This record gives sequence, structure tokens and C-alpha cells, in this order.
Amino acid sequence: MRFDTRLVHEAQPADPATGAVNTPIYLSSTFAQEAPNRNRGYVYSRSANPTRSVLEAALAALEGGAVGLAFSSGLGALATLLDHFPTGSRIVAGEDLYGGTWRLLEHRRRQYGIEPVYVDFRRPERIRAAVRAAPTALVYAESPTNPLLGLCDLRAAARIAREAGALFAVDNTFASPAVQRPIESGADVVLHSTTKYLGGHSDIVGGALVVGPAELGRRLAWLQNAVGAVPSPFDCFLVLRGMKTLGVRMRRHSENAGAVALELERSPRVARVHYPGLASHPQHRLAARQMSQYGGMVSFEMKGGAAAVRRFLGGLRLITLAESLGGVESLIEHPASMTHASVPRAERLRHGVTDGLVRLSCGIEDPADLLGELRAALRRV
Ligand SMILES: *Cc1c(COP(=O)(O)O)cnc(C)c1O
Repeated sequence: MRFDTRLVHEAQPADPATGAVNTPIYLSSTFAQEAPNRNRGYVYSRSANPTRSVLEAALAALEGGAVGLAFSSGLGALATLLDHFPTGSRIVAGEDLYGGTWRLLEHRRRQYGIEPVYVDFRRPERIRAAVRAAPTALVYAESPTNPLLGLCDLRAAARIAREAGALFAVDNTFASPAVQRPIESGADVVLHSTTKYLGGHSDIVGGALVVGPAELGRRLAWLQNAVGAVPSPFDCFLVLRGMKTLGVRMRRHSENAGAVALELERSPRVARVHYPGLASHPQHRLAARQMSQYGGMVSFEMKGGAAAVRRFLGGLRLITLAESLGGVESLIEHPASMTHASVPRAERLRHGVTDGLVRLSCGIEDPADLLGELRAALRRV
């Protein structure tokens, strides 16, 4: 089966109890047992829930992993993954990371004896130097990164991690499995904020881990239950419902983002556009090799800094000023004062998150409406 068909059908059979075509929302915290410890695979919904089980199997199938695990948020998934690593573990991560990921590593896990090290993941030789400098437990990549759309060569990073005896995890939130499947490139673990493209409708907060090796999957499943950051059956249903249309949504997100990126590149008010689909993107060739489309996220730097950004944002009507991304509606934000406000200014600037940077999640609206709105708002800056 091709990917779009698998999105609709794979690992999502009609409900075995009733034949319901859509997976029912099993709102039950506990399950009747025939005798002590004689049950039908379900005991208590933190450990396993039938709605969640279908979502987890579908996630595993789409990313090509042995085990899928659903969580109550992307950061809940990350926190559970990090719980796998004991005090003293060294983690080599990209220096341009989702702000919440950086906050958890830097302001929590470091206090508990985890040693995060940040390097430029656009350059495999930097990853190699970092893992050779000291024993490393985990190599953690985001590709494309948030908000600068930098890429990590997943095959190269997987090889470097394997040679060093480290696990390799990839945050695949920006790409989604419709665009890129890191386990096929050698990753051990894929992380998602299902809040974004997998859910796709800005109506839930959720997360997921998909684990390549079965044994590691069993250990992380044990942690999922032990730590308990699990999603509700209703949220699992909504992610399942969203995933069925991921293929058609992602094609439109990518087409719209491609058109928007070209339009922004032509504007005299814009200094620089970051989009892997543009020929001007420094890693465009790598993008063409490891992504099947270029995704819906664009960021760009306005001339005139934060003041120009504020005037530009004030001129938008259709495109909503809001955090988050990956929904059917276009969302725009100012990383320096919003999503990345928890990163110190000097650190932020060092990585290229300037005061004039704007991040745009292109929705699935008609592209003519998006382009018209952007053109008019840029003219008024
Ligand atoms: C949103 C996001 C997260 C965190 O996910 P939540 O569901 O908000 O907890 C992690 N990584 C990336 C790239 C994200 O965009």
C-alpha cells in the first residue's frame, strides 16, 4: 500500500467488538477481569487503552518503528524519553532546538546530572567531534529546526551515533511522516508533538514516540506507564481522525509554503527567507534528498527589526497571530518575544533567532488569499 492509503487504513481495523468503522472512544479508566490477572489485554487506562492502542499501532506503522507510544504532549514524550537516561548521561543535541526542549534539558535535566552539549547539527563533523570528545548516551536532532529550518543529515548523524554506541533520536514534528521517516535513515527513536501536523486541526495537545528497536520500545513502554504522561482516549481519537488526512493536508501545506516563500523572497521589506524548498536555502540539496516535500513552515527576517515586525503583524487579518503550528489555518508568530522568549537573548542571537525573525505556519487556505494578504501587509510596513 502507498503512504496515503496506509494513512487511512493501516493498523486501524474496524472495531472488533462492534464493527464500527471509526475507532470508538473507550472512555473507561478500568476493565473488568474474569479472574485476578485474567483479562483481555486491558487492565487500567494508564497502562493501555483500546483507543490509544490503535493510535499507537498506526503511529508505529507510519514511521516504520516496532513500537508506537502516545503521550499527553510532545514535552511529555520528551520527558519520558529522557527518563531512560541515568544521571551522568551525556546528550549531544542541536543548538537550534524547540525552546521547550532546550528549557527541559537545560533548566531541569542538567540539575539531575544529565549533561547536554549543543552543537551545529547542520555540520555532521561537529556532531562527530562532540560524540568523540566523551562517552555519549544520546544524539538528539531536530530536522528541520524550529524556527530557522536548518537540516540535519539524518543518515550521516545515524552513522555517527551508531559508531559511538549512542542512541539517535529525531524530533520529526516539523516534517511529519508524510515528508520524512527518520527510522528509515537509521534513527532509533522518532518524537512528535502530535499537537502539530499529525493532529492537524489545532484542537488537541499531544505527543508520541516511535521506537525502531523492539527491545528499546518495550523499555520506553514500561516508562510510559511508570511516568504516566498519557493522553485521554478522546485526544487519541482526534489524532487518529487527523492522521487520515495528513497526506492531502501536507501536500497543500507544502504548495502554499513554497508559493509564500517565493513571494517573501521578492519583497524589498524582507532580508532573508528560510525554507528548505528554496534554491537559496544553503541545504536545499540535502532537503531534496531526505524530504519528499518541503513542508508547511517558513521563517523570514524583516528589515527594521521588532518594530517592523509589529507593524507587519498588525496588518494581518486572515493569518492569525498565535503560537503553535501545523493546523489547517495559517498561524504566524514572533519567536523572539513568543515561542523562544525563554531562551536568553545572546544565546538566541548567536543561533540566528533575531528580533526581526517571523515564523509562519502555512495553512491549507487558497494560496491566492494568503499571498494577497502578505503582499498588502508588507506594503503597509
Ligand atoms: C511544539 C513542539 C514540541 C513540544 O510539543 P508540545 O505538544 O507542545 O508539548 C516539541 N518539538 C517541536 C519541534 C515542536 O514544535
